[in-house]
Amino acid sequence: MGAECSIDADSPPSKASSGSGKSTLLRCINQLEVISAGRVRLSGVLQGYREIDGKLHQLSQRQVSEQRRRTGMVYYRRRMMPIASFIVVTRPLTPEEVEATLPGNRNYTNSLNIANYFRLTPDNRLLFGGRAKFSAASNQKTDVRSGELLRKQMLDVFPQLADVEIDYCWGGLVGCTQDRFPRAGTADGLIYGMGYSGHGAQLSTLIGNVLADIAMGRTDTNPIGGMDWNAVPLHTGKPWFLPMVGTYYRLKDMLA
Ligand SMILES: Cc1cc2nc3c(=O)[nH]c(=O)nc-3n(C[C@H](O)[C@H](O)[C@H](O)COP(=O)(O)OP(=O)(O)OC[C@H]3O[C@@H](n4cnc5c(N)ncnc54)[C@H](O)[C@@H]3O)c2cc1C
Repeated sequence: MGAECSIDADSPPSKASSGSGKSTLLRCINQLEVISAGRVRLSGVLQGYREIDGKLHQLSQRQVSEQRRRTGMVYYRRRMMPIASFIVVTRPLTPEEVEATLPGNRNYTNSLNIANYFRLTPDNRLLFGGRAKFSAASNQKTDVRSGELLRKQMLDVFPQLADVEIDYCWGGLVGCTQDRFPRAGTADGLIYGMGYSGHGAQLSTLIGNVLADIAMGRTDTNPIGGMDWNAVPLHTGKPWFLPMVGTYYRLKDMLA
C-alpha cells in the first residue's frame, strides 16, 4: 500500500525471495490481476483504467487487450509475424477416386512460395493444406472463407474432385520469421523457441529439449543458437504489410 516502484525496461529480471510478490507484480503489469488499489502506469500510461476527474473507470476487455499488446514481448513482436494456415479434408474417397488422385499414397508438397501440401488420411480422405489467404486472422468466419479458397486451390490440382464434399476445415495462426527459419535462445529475460513458420511439428519437440537445457544452464545443445535475428523493418506488432507480401509471392508463383 502506498509503495511506489519504478522499473527500468533494460534492468535484469528481479530477484527476490519466494512469496515476496514478484509474480503478482508481473501479473498486475500484464493485467492478469484486477488492480484493486493504487495505480500501475507504464511509460506514464495508466493500465486497466481511464481516469476522469480523479475517478477511475475500468477499461473494457478489448481496451485491456489493446494495452497488453504494448506491454510485453516487444522484442518478439518486432521479429515475429502471425500468418494464418488452413487445412480442408474431403469425405472418404472411393477406391476409384483414390486411384485417380494419389495412387502411390505418399505425402506431397509443391514448390510454390505459397505452397500446398496434401496426403490421404488413414480412412482415405484427401487432406489438403496451405496458406489460402495471406492474413493474420483466424476465426470461424475467416476460416470458412479460407476453406473455400483452399478448396479452389485443391481443384486446381485435382479437378476430378469437383463433386467431392469437404467434411472438415480448420485453421490457426503460425508464427513466422522474416527468413522463415526458427530461432531459439534467450532475450529480454526469456528463454524462447519460436518462428517455426508452419514447420514446427518436428523441430519444436527438439527445441523443447534445448530450452530445458538452457534453463539448466547448458547452452551447447542449441543447433540454432547465436543466429542473427533482426527486427522486421517498420513492424511493431500488427503485420499490416501481409496482404502486399501475399500479392508479391502470388505474382512470383504465377510467373514462375
Ligand atoms: C493449420 C495448421 C497446419 C499446420 N501444419 C503443419 C505441418 O504440416 N507440419 C509442421 O511441421 N507444422 C505444421 N503447423 C505448425 C505447427 O503446428 C507449429 O509450428 C507447432 O505446433 C509449434 O509448436 P510450439 O510448441 O512452439 O507451439 P504450440 O504447438 O502452439 O504450443 C503452444 C501451447 O501453449 C499453450 N498456451 C498458449 N498460451 C498459454 C498460456 N497463456 N498459458 C498456458 N498455456 C498456453 C497453447 O494452448 C498450446 O498448447 C501447422 C499449424 C497450423 C495452424
